[in-house]
Amino acid sequence: MSQRTLLRGGLILSMDPEIGDLHGGDLLIDGDSIAAVGPSLDVSDCEVIDASSAIVIPGFVDSHRHTWETVIRGVAPDATLNDYFDVVLDQLAPAYRPEDVYAGNLLGALEAVDAGITTLLDWSHINNTPDHSDEAIRGLREAGLRAVYCYGNPNTSLADWWFGSTLKAPEDIRRIRDQYFPADDGLLTLAMAARGPGFCVPEVVRHDWELARDIGVPISVHVGMGTVAGRFRMIEQLDGLGLLGPDTTYIHCNYLTDEELQRVADTGGMTSVAPTVEMQMGHGLPPTGRLLAHGLRPSISVDVVTSAPGDLFTQMRALFATERALVHDRVWREELEEIPPLVGVRDILEFATVEGARVCGVGDRTGSLTPGKKADVVLLRFDRINTLPVIDPVATVVLAADTSNVDTVFVNGRAVKRDGRLVGVDPGRLRSLAESSRDYLLTKTARQPHWVPAG
Ligand SMILES: [Zn+2]
Repeated sequence: MSQRTLLRGGLILSMDPEIGDLHGGDLLIDGDSIAAVGPSLDVSDCEVIDASSAIVIPGFVDSHRHTWETVIRGVAPDATLNDYFDVVLDQLAPAYRPEDVYAGNLLGALEAVDAGITTLLDWSHINNTPDHSDEAIRGLREAGLRAVYCYGNPNTSLADWWFGSTLKAPEDIRRIRDQYFPADDGLLTLAMAARGPGFCVPEVVRHDWELARDIGVPISVHVGMGTVAGRFRMIEQLDGLGLLGPDTTYIHCNYLTDEELQRVADTGGMTSVAPTVEMQMGHGLPPTGRLLAHGLRPSISVDVVTSAPGDLFTQMRALFATERALVHDRVWREELEEIPPLVGVRDILEFATVEGARVCGVGDRTGSLTPGKKADVVLLRFDRINTLPVIDPVATVVLAADTSNVDTVFVNGRAVKRDGRLVGVDPGRLRSLAESSRDYLLTKTARQPHWVPAG
């Protein structure tokens, strides 16, 4: 018989409309799946976890993060998007060794798990050699979370790979498909991280989209952000090439026109908003309200820890505050009598869970606490100074909780965090991997006077 675990007496936010919220409910994990959710399950022969001080939610989904950058965390706090291209993609990325990618992915994926993120889309544009790709996958696998390995371009030179690039996405993705992802039902799945029109010439765009579709994987692309790509009219160009489709996720979308957003919606496209970096780095204002007006329910993403923290609590609050600020500002400027629709905390939690899973192509197996789905479950302790007392558990999660409340995390039925600690992780080894990569990589960029001395 498979291992069974009963979470007893929690405040369950299932994010499944059929099940709803249970104030004092049980959830049974059987093997890798959720077997039952109900007010009082009569089960024996199982481990019982007392969830009476916990809000039980489906694991968060981060729909876009360049996880390899974790070992250069905080390197570009004051950077604009244009600075970032220079420092991170032109100076640091070409210097990355396969071991740095491994260290970055392992550390970043474990950071995600620690923060209650059970599904991570790793937008991996660091495939400088096939060894880099192998090490990226090894880091994700070792962390034990659900991940979409989103294979992107090498970053051996900004001039070669970005802005009118004539270099096609490497065919090595075919080897990766065969070697690591023969089916699409594993804990790790494959996608293609494409650059898109403006970043490369139309013939390359067509090649890359056709390559992804030939091997049967979804596509993720940054569009319409910042002062340069904001003017590329990327959706219009993709439309002209006949490439828009329901297999594609469009990240950022800040400066897309209404016509472009409508084309994304009409062709079944999906979206990802990274509110903190978008506001800090000059991508443009998070387009949440505009997406919703076109019927597009977004997912949420961290993007880069070179400028932003790696948890979704921060991103949920940034998204919530900005979107509402934009509406309130409109009310003031246009002297509106009636307040246009405002996003609520439940919308935000949906974006961070069930919509994230849909956008990452794993909505059939995660994103909600639905019997039959895989057991990706998070227990957030609410008996803490920052979360007491609970009135509306959704409000507690979205507006009060942080990573310190993440007590227990299951991925695919396996406890990867228990009692506030990552399971089977040696913190000393992680620190040493992180700092040795950092020390090596920082020799490849102009050191700043306020940085810590090399180790
Ligand atoms: Zn990004």
